[in-house]
Amino acid sequence: MHVLDASAFIDDYTTDEAVATVPAVREELTDDSSGYRFDALEGAGMQLHVPGEGPLAQVERAARSTGDFTELSDTDVRLLAAAFELGATLVTDDYAMQNVADELDVATESISQDGIDEQRSWDYQCQGCGRVYDSHRERCEVCGADLERKNPS
Ligand SMILES: [Zn+2]
Repeated sequence: MHVLDASAFIDDYTTDEAVATVPAVREELTDDSSGYRFDALEGAGMQLHVPGEGPLAQVERAARSTGDFTELSDTDVRLLAAAFELGATLVTDDYAMQNVADELDVATESISQDGIDEQRSWDYQCQGCGRVYDSHRERCEVCGADLERKNPS
């Protein structure tokens, strides 16, 4: 089961998993195409889950403990509570939501698989001694030779 946040509908996220969301997400979809995708998924069996008071309170506690509570909308809290209650994977690119999900041991998945959010970090290899660094520097700290960018393996 995957619980989808509003951006999953806006960015046309697709999955073979069963999907669920909370009713409040529909109200956040103001453009026609994302609203249409929501309605189509609902017609195809997407579960609209209304989380209970217990899970909502647990999400709030977790969000306060990580310091993310003020970053979360009411809908965000409901989505987190739904994923928590359903034992589902939460689909979101929102960092605060991912952080709170982590605190609740709720799995997350990003929407923009190849987006700029997931830019690869380059390794740098010394042309002298072969030492590899994960961040750029002027010269090798060991032998002083030049570093060259190397594709991540
Ligand atoms: Zn070196």
